[in-house]
Amino acid sequence: MNSTPIYHVYDDEYQNRIFIKRDDLIPVSFGGNKARKAINFFADIDSGDYDCIVTYGSSSSNHCRIISNMAAGRHMPCYIISPQEASVPTFNSQLMEMFGAEIIVVNVEEVHETIENKLSELKNSGKKPYFIAGGGHGNLGTQAYVECYNEIIQYETHNHIKFDYIFFASGTGTTQAGLVCGQLLHKDQRNIIGISIARKNPGGRQVIIDSINEYLECCGADISITEIENKTVFIDDYTGSGYSKTDESVNTSIMEMMTMYGIPMDATYVGKAFSGMKKYIDANYINKLNILFIHTGGTPLFFDYLQGRNAE
Ligand SMILES: *Cc1c(COP(=O)(O)O)cnc(C)c1O
Repeated sequence: MNSTPIYHVYDDEYQNRIFIKRDDLIPVSFGGNKARKAINFFADIDSGDYDCIVTYGSSSSNHCRIISNMAAGRHMPCYIISPQEASVPTFNSQLMEMFGAEIIVVNVEEVHETIENKLSELKNSGKKPYFIAGGGHGNLGTQAYVECYNEIIQYETHNHIKFDYIFFASGTGTTQAGLVCGQLLHKDQRNIIGISIARKNPGGRQVIIDSINEYLECCGADISITEIENKTVFIDDYTGSGYSKTDESVNTSIMEMMTMYGIPMDATYVGKAFSGMKKYIDANYINKLNILFIHTGGTPLFFDYLQGRNAE
């Protein structure tokens, strides 16, 4: 895959130079971080002996949209286990249906068991299912953001610039785990700040640390736990009223970014993280630095937002 574009968007009132990396422009199924991860999962699928896919996610899941799209392109059946608690129709769920995914809606407590049952049912009938964890969690997903980090380093070398801060929306933390692993492997100094869109500390941060450990163990890197902990910054101050809940400052950021720069941001992830980043810059007196924001996608959710589907 080609690198996604990085460019300067504006200078803020503290003379910080704000750049953006457009992972929303990854040219598969409306892009985003789930597309970057899915490309790695499908490389694994294509090189193995599989004939169907099982994954998990809600009706608003960007991950499930992209997985079902890439499965349909290969004529592979795709089974999505989906929690009933989050099953209101969205553009993503409409797309999943368009791609012919079989969506199995169950109570959230039954999700784990349903996945296990579906996998054994498929195996017992002679099928060869490939399982992808929700959100593209796992080493291949982490690897996708080590690759993203490498693209950032390449851009810096080529353009003689250094980003002092990297911000992005952190959910399951796989994106953050990959970026931090990239930094640890390159041994460079900068602040990588994941803005939580829902999860709280210490649990949210621990999931990221676990993913980092799992990845580094797998690639045989010997990095101390203190070093890993120092580099894992998960900010839970800007989650508002919780997952997918928007507020006035998120709405303002979305409006401004679309109007001024033509960059769509959704209210669940990217708009919320962008607004959180601005508050973090303000609260920590960050000034005259180079700041990179990674746009992690979610474009169909931007259209849900336009239709008023996000709760205040
Ligand atoms: C899933 C998602 C995130 C969060 O990524 P994680 O790797 O789960 O932390 C951020 N932005 C968008 C648009 C997403 O779909």
